[in-house]
Amino acid sequence: MTTRRRPLEEGDPQIHALIQREVLRQEEGLELIASENFASRAVLEAVGSELTNKYAEGYPGRRYYGGCEVVDEVERLAIGRARALFRAEHANVQPHAGAQANLAAYFAVLKPGDRLLGMTLSHGGHLTHGSPVNLSGQLFEVAQYGVNETSGLLDMDRVREQARAFRPQLIVAGASAYPRVIDFAAFGAIAREVGAVLLVDMAHYAGLIAGGVYPSPVPHADIVTSTTHKTLRGPRGGFILCREGWGKPIDKMVFPGTQGGPLEHVIAAKAVAFGEAQRPEFRAYAARVVRNAVALGEGLAERGFVLVSGGTDSHLLLVDLRSKRVTGKAAQAVLDDVGIHVNKNTIPGDPESPFVTSGMRLGSAALTTRGMGPAEMRRIAELIDVVLGAADDAAVRRRVQRDVRELAAAFPLAGVAASALK
Ligand SMILES: *Cc1c(COP(=O)(O)O)cnc(C)c1O
Repeated sequence: MTTRRRPLEEGDPQIHALIQREVLRQEEGLELIASENFASRAVLEAVGSELTNKYAEGYPGRRYYGGCEVVDEVERLAIGRARALFRAEHANVQPHAGAQANLAAYFAVLKPGDRLLGMTLSHGGHLTHGSPVNLSGQLFEVAQYGVNETSGLLDMDRVREQARAFRPQLIVAGASAYPRVIDFAAFGAIAREVGAVLLVDMAHYAGLIAGGVYPSPVPHADIVTSTTHKTLRGPRGGFILCREGWGKPIDKMVFPGTQGGPLEHVIAAKAVAFGEAQRPEFRAYAARVVRNAVALGEGLAERGFVLVSGGTDSHLLLVDLRSKRVTGKAAQAVLDDVGIHVNKNTIPGDPESPFVTSGMRLGSAALTTRGMGPAEMRRIAELIDVVLGAADDAAVRRRVQRDVRELAAAFPLAGVAASALK
């Protein structure tokens, strides 16, 4: 084997060039996709490490392979930091992603045919919360709750009625497109009343919860599942927190129940991200994320955009585009063209199909990592309004694209990633 100084560039120029193109795309654009963020250099370095070479089926101290003494320490650190960060009794850091965390947790509680109550996808829930196109909707008997279509808010009295009528064994709380605080205590009370287990999927809010700016579900839920790559700003992955009594069944369902060998390089990066999130700077970051989302929402509302639920308590905004006579699909395409990245999203009671939609979802987590503040959010609201108002005007589009690049260049990604290392 030859030693190369630039192993990827020299060994596989095609993939190297594609990664460079993606880095440039991330540098030049304004990332408003609510589920995305920019991981620190330290996180990236751990993901790219030699730990990827190691097989470690099992858990620290109980592995099916030899040579696990180092990765055991890595995984124990990740577990300890996750528990400390979220004040949880037990943590499993092996789920490869959020969907895998949910699948394992469901099977720790339910058998096929059992009853699951989750939030409807079209009202902000996640595919894994019982959608018919997901395994969760095929293996379990599912009932779903939604928001009040006028207020855009969860109606806990309605959830209680549904739970009483349906008698689920498992209630899933948590969402991918719900901007407001979820009343985890109310979900806990309902679950106890009907004898259900409560699982909170905090995938979107995890970083805000770690940063103390969004209520924690941990005191109220039996099981908490999450991703590490959204507001928590870690590597792409998942994890599960639970009360001590659920620890054994959860661990068994992650491995050997639903996964094989853990990704110890990713687990190392999760440990790094949990460590970063324990620092005071991360609390400040989380607070800025929410302030920025509020500012972006105010900027949009001042320009005639309608926000579902009237605003936000989190990093995300759900915009009802009908007042602007544009579909989610069209808005996403026009904005993408000028370098503003959002995703089309159904709004509660959406008359359009999920492929078209009447809404878009925006999030402030990624641009806040770049160092942007409320002034930039207001400027972005203006750019969104200008380009959606003149979608067929190529000159306007080019002008906005120039403004987008200028704004992005003023907050370089490399600089942010380096400073996140500190
Ligand atoms: C993103 C998300 C997931 C899935 O995470 P993946 O890592 O994409 O599998 C699960 N639940 C909720 C609520 C999410 O927002």
